[in-house]
Amino acid sequence: MSDAITAEDTMTTPRMRAAIEALPERKAGAQGVGQRMAANESPEGPLPSVLEAVHTAATELNHYPDYHCTEVTGEIAKWLGVGADNVVVGAGAVGVTQMVFSAVSEPGSDVIYPWRSFEAYPTIAALAEMRPVAVPLREDGGHDLDEMAAAITPRTRLILVCNPNNPTGVPVHADELSAFLDRVPADCLVLLDEAYREYVRDPDVPDGLHVAARRPNVAVLRTFSKAYGLAALRVGYLAGDERVVSAVRKARLGFSVNGPAQAAVIASLLAEDELLGRVEHTIKERDRVRSALLEQGWRVARSEANFLWLRTPDAVGLAKACAAGGLLVRAFDGEGVRVSIATPQANDAFLGICAAYRDAR
Ligand SMILES: *Cc1c(COP(=O)(O)O)cnc(C)c1O
Repeated sequence: MSDAITAEDTMTTPRMRAAIEALPERKAGAQGVGQRMAANESPEGPLPSVLEAVHTAATELNHYPDYHCTEVTGEIAKWLGVGADNVVVGAGAVGVTQMVFSAVSEPGSDVIYPWRSFEAYPTIAALAEMRPVAVPLREDGGHDLDEMAAAITPRTRLILVCNPNNPTGVPVHADELSAFLDRVPADCLVLLDEAYREYVRDPDVPDGLHVAARRPNVAVLRTFSKAYGLAALRVGYLAGDERVVSAVRKARLGFSVNGPAQAAVIASLLAEDELLGRVEHTIKERDRVRSALLEQGWRVARSEANFLWLRTPDAVGLAKACAAGGLLVRAFDGEGVRVSIATPQANDAFLGICAAYRDAR
């Protein structure tokens, strides 16, 4: 008997979970130099007051952050007008989503979500080994809530509603949402992903917090990455019934919300007016850019978010033309291009490229 490594051993690699083997490796996106209009980020840098809070927190990098995120959770709860037991923060809304999946998934359980929608959903479902039930969007880019309700079975543990939907920008209205929720069993959690809530101006779109206040099986997901401009710091939160929140909190990895991030969120809440002023500019630009695109003859859904969805089978061609012009946008092959609303200059550059592309065809 020998401990020596044989040639045969070196040819065998460690066994991985089948769920991991089945996942494609995420390709590097359309990186490169250019104006970033592919990830729905805020086009503006951090406010001085937020930057200062991060600097101060950075002098404490040798210490662990608050494990329980007590202060930041309390401040968010106060700001939302709910109890601290109704809020749980996590490492980005994506991190919170993974916590939700960890909290509800059982082997062989189902998760229902619209498709096309946020790209993280299928990956997180696969990691949790939940069976994905992806229900195609309606022709207009909205959720097909009838089909989603019809897909519910006793195995369904989780339903995702993305309001407004990424990448189409199309919202779900209050009446259709409440008719849908009436069809969801009380023991099945509905996660209302409101990552773009601050950009919604359509009065018929419900505030998820009001919905969740009346329905314990509805929880709201929001983020500081978009309107609050903190994408790099990774903070999102879930608001809902305290029993749901408590379960989701158990699924959080210790210290996953870092100290500078907690400080930046607290400072951002104090600077809310300034940050929401920026949102107003983005909304004006969104509506201006959409009108111009419609005039050029593109099919563009009405968006309640900080991006627009141009439906075109030649998405890759258009994205390449944008890249050649120094703009990074997101192409979904054969479906459309999602462009984030950026500065007026960048938006104008995008309009110029679209016009030229249209004319050349
Ligand atoms: C951007 C986005 C998120 C989350 O972002 P985080 O940076 O992880 O907070 C969540 N849901 C949707 C639909 C998004 O577009």
